[in-house]
Amino acid sequence: MPKNNKNRIISAKESADEMAFEKSLRPKQLADYIGQDKVKDNLEIFMVAAKKRKEPIEHVLLHGCPGLGKTTLAHIIAHEMGSNIRITSGPAIEKAGDLAAILTNLADGDILFIDEIHRLNKIIEEVLYPAMEDFALDIVIGKGPSARTLRLDLPKFTLIGATTRVSLISSPLRDRFGINFRLDFYKDEDIEKIIERNAKILNVDIEPKATSQISRRARKTPRIANRLLKRVRDFAQVKGNGKINLDLANDALTMLDIDQLGLDEIDRKIIRVIIEKFSGGPVGLNTLSAAIGEEMDTIEDIYEPFLMQLGFISRTPRGRIITKNGYEHLGIKPIIDPQNSLI
Ligand code: ADP
Repeated sequence: MPKNNKNRIISAKESADEMAFEKSLRPKQLADYIGQDKVKDNLEIFMVAAKKRKEPIEHVLLHGCPGLGKTTLAHIIAHEMGSNIRITSGPAIEKAGDLAAILTNLADGDILFIDEIHRLNKIIEEVLYPAMEDFALDIVIGKGPSARTLRLDLPKFTLIGATTRVSLISSPLRDRFGINFRLDFYKDEDIEKIIERNAKILNVDIEPKATSQISRRARKTPRIANRLLKRVRDFAQVKGNGKINLDLANDALTMLDIDQLGLDEIDRKIIRVIIEKFSGGPVGLNTLSAAIGEEMDTIEDIYEPFLMQLGFISRTPRGRIITKNGYEHLGIKPIIDPQNSLI
């Protein structure tokens, strides 16, 4: 059974408390959005061009792991374009009528942000096609042979879709986005800048060495950096004098069970279980999920991308395998298998 991950550092779920915390740290302007330089440069050009033409910006698809800044970027686009933003998500739109109601309530130039757009059902997705392409809504009146389609004009809006799984988006939908950005994991120095900025906003005194220690363990992800900063700040207030120095940051991170590379107990469990129960793999996602008691989506969206980025896990057509580096990180000696040169 999947465990409650409310208090986990590494999770995609946010509590109401955390949402408010994140909102307070969310940069509002493009100039404050740290890193992702290529995306920012391109976006700037698209926005300036759209403003010159006095048109809304083209539809934008943002994809990347949870916590890399997709929602933040959608808000920034709205702010920079001087537009209103309406926020919803794939699973929240249950019927085609729900989407029709949202679309008909938009005004010219508005932005509609659909998070987890890969979870929209196909029938609803089809309502989006004419809406995105022709700013029109096709309504079917009547049933059977006498059914007619009525076309309603919609305001000229911009759709911003965000997804952690671009591969699950159908190609007709993907093709209707004029702009498609992939957000990558951040460089350590960019995460350091984010921590510095946020420590200032939170009025926390932090030593540069502590900043770089936290950034190294933040899985190259701004949301995790924010969570770690918050926990270390609490630790400093209880155990110290409120100032964050290197020793205090190290003690706090050790207590949270976050290792030198930012892995938590679940990451290590994934590696250990593949090694111990499946001889290092290959093992299918389904089996792995049952063996460690985590949902498949959680493994695929949250844990696996970073373990692959570190080169600890590799995906093969037959399943996941642990690489030599993965074994080394846990201090386990790989068994040499003459059939399998990877181990
Ligand atoms: P996503 O929508 O991709 O899951 P969010 O946009 O909600 O991620 O980002 C999570 C938090 O990380 C935000 O509240 C914000 O404080 C911070 N953040 C994300 N990207 C950046 C960035 N480029 N610069 C500064 N802070 C960022």
